[in-house]
Amino acid sequence: MKPILPGAAIGVLGSGQLGRMFAIAARQMGYRVHTFSPDSDTPAGLVSDLEVNASWEDTKALKAFASDVAAVTFEFENVPFGVTTALEALLPVRPSGTVLHIAQNRIREKAFLAQAGLPVVPHKAVRRLEELRTALQEIGYPAILKTAESGYDGKGQIAIHSALQAEAAWNAIGGRDAVLEAFIDFECELSVVAARGEDGSFAHYGLLENHHKNHILQTTTAPARVPDQIAVEAVEVTRAVLEGLGAIGVICVEFFLTRGGRLLINEIAPRPHNSGHFTLDACVTSQFEQQLRAVCGLPLGSTRQFQAAAMTNLLGDLWARGEPDWGAACGRHEVKLHLYGKREARPGRKMGHMTALGGDADSALKAVTDAMLVLGRPEKG
Ligand code: AMP
Repeated sequence: MKPILPGAAIGVLGSGQLGRMFAIAARQMGYRVHTFSPDSDTPAGLVSDLEVNASWEDTKALKAFASDVAAVTFEFENVPFGVTTALEALLPVRPSGTVLHIAQNRIREKAFLAQAGLPVVPHKAVRRLEELRTALQEIGYPAILKTAESGYDGKGQIAIHSALQAEAAWNAIGGRDAVLEAFIDFECELSVVAARGEDGSFAHYGLLENHHKNHILQTTTAPARVPDQIAVEAVEVTRAVLEGLGAIGVICVEFFLTRGGRLLINEIAPRPHNSGHFTLDACVTSQFEQQLRAVCGLPLGSTRQFQAAAMTNLLGDLWARGEPDWGAACGRHEVKLHLYGKREARPGRKMGHMTALGGDADSALKAVTDAMLVLGRPEKG
């Protein structure tokens, strides 16, 4: 494919903060951005050239959207497969409908990883209650039952501690296709954000260390504070994932590091990722610009990181006592503030993030954590 050059319009399916940061990067490089989603007045739509507000089933609107853009990417994992298939008949969709199809279903995702010989959390696909009972005997306790589709940030997941809880857990997830996973008593959670270009080139941002609270990412530290050998291994596994998928674009691979020092893949996100937000302030090329370059068939940019960095998410809980004190946070001059333009703050909703740079990961983390404290304390929990 001939590279898609600045001036062209790029289509984005989905309209949340990932689409917003992609649109800002694309517009900075002189591209036009059109977003498509069922919602209006969205984080991405607010900063795009055009916000198309239509349902995923509206084939006429999708066709019109496609006719105005040179390529399409997605920022939202649950775009119906039929949408990407229809678009692929008309123009390049990157990474691709197939990659999205694999990543949006835990059964397919884990089957892909296992077939590729990659290290994945012990698991069994479960489609009936009887299969769950058998799977529990194999996986043991505690185990985690996760719906195959539409789960994120811990939604659609339930822990099972004994055979007696099997039926209640099955009912709690609505008796839908699911995956039963072994509970991993991990040392820490890690991720690699990487990109593959149209020419097969590969670029990555090193190994990132992630801390979650209530299943939602709270902080990322870059680089991860683990031995170098673990980082080398995680990057090689990530490279194998991107090559195995034949993906063109940015993909994040999330890992558990077990207490025994083993890396196990938890899941794949076929798009820029929350753990890569620090790249906006800390790297030559952000993950969003990298996604744009890959989608457009341009050479990938340098991922060189200027300094150690740490990112903290700003969740809606912070608004419990009114508007956070942005002035105080900006008073920390090493801290960068990003807000996504969402009008309604709800508990657990990602409203923005902050990033700090530092001489090492510990001092960057301290700087961003201190800035968080001056914003106002979230409710205890
Ligand atoms: P997920 O949506 O699958 O990424 O899960 C959200 C979070 O739940 C993860 O980041 C972990 O903190 C936790 N989690 C998920 N699966 C497991 C597991 N098999 N063992 C231990 N913790 C898990």
